[in-house]
Amino acid sequence: MCHADLNRHIYEVECLVENPDEDQLITLPSWIPGSYLLREFARHVVSIRATSNGRELVVEKLDKGTWSCRGAKKELAVTIQVYALDRSVRGAYLDETRSFFNGTCLFLCPKGHEDQPVELLIKVPADSRCTKWRVATSMRCSDVDNNGFGLYEAENYDELIDHPFEISYHDVIAFEAGGVPHEFIIAGRHEADLERVATDLCLLCETHNRFFGKTAPFESYRFLGLAVGDGYGGLEHRASSSLIFNRSDLPTRQESGVSASYQRFLGLCSHEYFHSWNVKRIKPAAFSPYQLERRNLTRLMWVFEGITSYYQDLLLLRSELIGEKDYLRRLGQILTRVYRAPGRFKQSLAEASFDAWDKLYKPDANFNNVAISYYSKGALVALALDLTLRRDSDSAVTLDLVMLELWKRFGMVGIGVAEDDFESLVEELSGCDMQEFFDVAVRGTEDLPLANVLKGFGVKLGFRASTGPEDLGGWTSGGSAEQPPSLGAKYAERSFGVELTQLLDGGSAQAAGLIPGDHLIAINGLKVTSAKLDAQLARFEEEDEILVNVFRDDELVEREMTLQKAPLTTCFLDFDKEACADSVARRELWLGT
Ligand SMILES: [Zn+2]
Repeated sequence: MCHADLNRHIYEVECLVENPDEDQLITLPSWIPGSYLLREFARHVVSIRATSNGRELVVEKLDKGTWSCRGAKKELAVTIQVYALDRSVRGAYLDETRSFFNGTCLFLCPKGHEDQPVELLIKVPADSRCTKWRVATSMRCSDVDNNGFGLYEAENYDELIDHPFEISYHDVIAFEAGGVPHEFIIAGRHEADLERVATDLCLLCETHNRFFGKTAPFESYRFLGLAVGDGYGGLEHRASSSLIFNRSDLPTRQESGVSASYQRFLGLCSHEYFHSWNVKRIKPAAFSPYQLERRNLTRLMWVFEGITSYYQDLLLLRSELIGEKDYLRRLGQILTRVYRAPGRFKQSLAEASFDAWDKLYKPDANFNNVAISYYSKGALVALALDLTLRRDSDSAVTLDLVMLELWKRFGMVGIGVAEDDFESLVEELSGCDMQEFFDVAVRGTEDLPLANVLKGFGVKLGFRASTGPEDLGGWTSGGSAEQPPSLGAKYAERSFGVELTQLLDGGSAQAAGLIPGDHLIAINGLKVTSAKLDAQLARFEEEDEILVNVFRDDELVEREMTLQKAPLTTCFLDFDKEACADSVARRELWLGT
């Protein structure tokens, strides 16, 4: 980084190439590994110039992210200015409070030089507001000052773009896990008890390292966190992860219990850390190597995201950071997400994986009617597979063992997982014919027999109606099987009425001719508010006719609606007090309690 204009949010980055081609091609990636959407990072480049031997070269843009620099000799210097105001974990950001970037946004790749070692010089921005800034990254440093500014090195371009940088005045707390140093870095305002966060993350990281056979696959690890008012997301890297979370999710010194929001934060850390093995090293063959200018298609996304989602919570439990009841609640919420989506009958997990780039990463209001998330359904298939193996396999094979073997045969030795490798490995290890299981779970669109599978582990699965937009499921509403009338729509509070954001196929709102984006303002002539909508609807019965008023853009629309009862798609789990001793023993082995 040569120059940074904090007010204009512009990075200036110089890329020096030794022994360039005469017509040297240079590129910026279209996407960042871990986030499967073509983002075309080159669109943020505001200027580009190239020189060689003190001579200005002609630079021509050839496509969305490729330029040619004509007439280069011996050494080529290409300087780009990049606009950076993306606060997400996937982009680059610069203002007077912090600099955060992924190499995919800033670092040009000289074609043909991808495999060569790279030196990176990070300079302090020439701005008095940055004097307290320091550098946090997992990239290997070779010569840096006390604040981390100076020279870094990467083995090749692939590594160069896999270590995000947080450069700001931030807090750092260190701990050791898996025999190597770890740091939790937090930028943004917060009042968190960082000692406690470090103690908890240490327990969690130790559990993950034990899960994959003790030795950490990196020399050091950093959680690069940003605390914000409202945000949630993470992105995995080979020796770090970038995280965004609500500052209120972190515990203060006055708090002792593990609140649902702190569990959410720990779940995020657990998820990204598990990826250090599953997807960063155990990789689909389709990602080996990444093709950064186009979609990289695989039907295995569910293995990398679904299985990771399954273990993110299970390993929280096995680390004793959450209890069994919390675990069942969180699992019940994943079940709820799947059972509330009629799209599970239309799109298989293999298709959801393959279409990630155009469906999950570009969701529209109809997503839940026609598609399924490979995160949540993938986690349920992981659950069903784990429990089926534990129940049926004579040789005590579990999904834990499959993952460990996947690590040894693929991740540890750097071999990509081909499209049928996962299923073959499960069959080989278990000695069972699993064809039918995978046909239904991965390529089919029927529901898995989860209630039955869970029963063998002394866990009961129950269903009830949703109690409102805040109801994520996972808890019983006292056993009542009430089904109040429902709009059959998701909605969000607006300054006036509520906005219908998603309409369930066949639901009351869709049948009445309403569409996503409609602002519902009145029912039977009475004003609607988000807080009172459920109570308003509860006064009616199934099949009642009501009159609804919505604004569609600036037009007032009136429709008659026949109310249907709310579907029983909110799930909860409970221990079965009448479970036999065998089931209870299996459950204890599964949960590690
Ligand atoms: Zn993930």
